[in-house]
Amino acid sequence: MVCAVTQHTPPKRVAIVGAGMVGLATAWFLQEEGVEVTVLDRTGVAAGSSWGNAGWLTPGLATPLPEPAVLKYGIRAVVSPASPVYVPISTNRRLLSFLVRFARNSTMPRWRQAMSALVPINSLALEAFDRLADGGVGGAVHEAHSFIAAYRTPEEREVLLDEIKHIKASGQPLDYDILTGDEARAVEPSLSPAIGAGIRLHGQRYITPSDYVESLAEAVRQRGCRIVSGVQVGTIKDRGTQVQVAGETYDAVVIATGAWLNDLARPFGVSLPVQAGRGYSFTIPIEHVPTGPVYFPAQRVACTPAGDRLRVAGMMEFRPADAALDTRRIEAIVDAARPLLRGAELGSRRDEWVGARPCTPDGLPLIGATKSPRVFVAGGHGMWGITLGPATGDLLARAMLTGATPAELRPFAPLR
Ligand SMILES: Cc1cc2nc3c(=O)[nH]c(=O)nc-3n(C[C@H](O)[C@H](O)[C@H](O)COP(=O)(O)OP(=O)(O)OC[C@H]3O[C@@H](n4cnc5c(N)ncnc54)[C@H](O)[C@@H]3O)c2cc1C
Repeated sequence: MVCAVTQHTPPKRVAIVGAGMVGLATAWFLQEEGVEVTVLDRTGVAAGSSWGNAGWLTPGLATPLPEPAVLKYGIRAVVSPASPVYVPISTNRRLLSFLVRFARNSTMPRWRQAMSALVPINSLALEAFDRLADGGVGGAVHEAHSFIAAYRTPEEREVLLDEIKHIKASGQPLDYDILTGDEARAVEPSLSPAIGAGIRLHGQRYITPSDYVESLAEAVRQRGCRIVSGVQVGTIKDRGTQVQVAGETYDAVVIATGAWLNDLARPFGVSLPVQAGRGYSFTIPIEHVPTGPVYFPAQRVACTPAGDRLRVAGMMEFRPADAALDTRRIEAIVDAARPLLRGAELGSRRDEWVGARPCTPDGLPLIGATKSPRVFVAGGHGMWGITLGPATGDLLARAMLTGATPAELRPFAPLR
């Protein structure tokens, strides 16, 4: 019997649509293999959710978003717009269909399955940042000397302790200590007397995402990449041996458009919806800037040192990606954080921001080839596109150049 062997021709010229963490990291790793890359963005570098997010590099916490506890929040959200998860009552058909699929995945067996799909890529996450640093990306990556999850009561803490148990059972390492309120305050003096219990996580890192992504952009530019801002890519045309993107031809294209991924990817067979899970953030002055991230899981508020200020982030708002910033959500985060932080000047806010997490209904990203062997997607990382961006870029570059899908990417097949 004669077997037909298809010869893989590695692409030499690649266009990447989207200059967020995922698109730029993919550009960098393609350049490592000598590929000529052009990055196109409708606005510019870090114009999407890669700008004002919490900047945690926390593979230990990178878990699937659909989980049994989120369902409980979703139901509460319908009656309370100040809840940390907000679903508008009047929803369109597309959002309703996303929510139904999301709810179906919010069971313990599905969570376990999705978690075991994330463990292999999580284990590459920090190493991929090290490779970027060794290769000349100058953005600061900080070891989180303290990373505290803080609660009013030990009972509230049980939710995360239970989740950590499941995370570790999936094979994801995560070291931690259990702290009293006083012990948590001794590590992190910015916690208020209302804090009565804590968990200290080890081995995680953090960045200031806007600065880091700018430095990644600078590094890819210095290696010869063109980053073209102000180009809204409307369609991608597959011409058989090449693709046409914004009037130019390339050997391949990567769609890395975050919460807008469906628009360009749908014609290439990607039918899984990517829904904007919008989050908000701002920075404030604080008497004692923490030495690492501070997390209030019960309120779903995430704080990260940002130079001499503190970035405070939160909310999961299922609304259109381009909807205007809703100041009520900022107020809801302020109200949630006020009793928990000491010396925080919540009235002196700067950098108020809304960004759209690209969320999939099964909580897994979409990374790999589409029905065209020249059109790839990289996105849908939901809460974890900063942590997983560089590992995604590395794995996808390998897939594009060899024609073989690395085992870590198999669960993330865009055509699933
Ligand atoms: C409040 C908040 C906190 C978060 N905290 C963390 C965290 O601590 N750690 C973590 O790992 N993740 C976190 N995330 C998630 C993380 O921000 C995202 O997963 C990640 O930024 C997604 O990156 P991306 O490159 O896929 O998309 P984006 O950064 O959104 O980039 C997409 C780009 O595509 C461009 N674009 C879209 N359509 C087109 C088009 N048609 N033509 C041209 N350009 C186009 C956009 O302008 C944009 O620049 C957080 C998110 C939020 C909102």
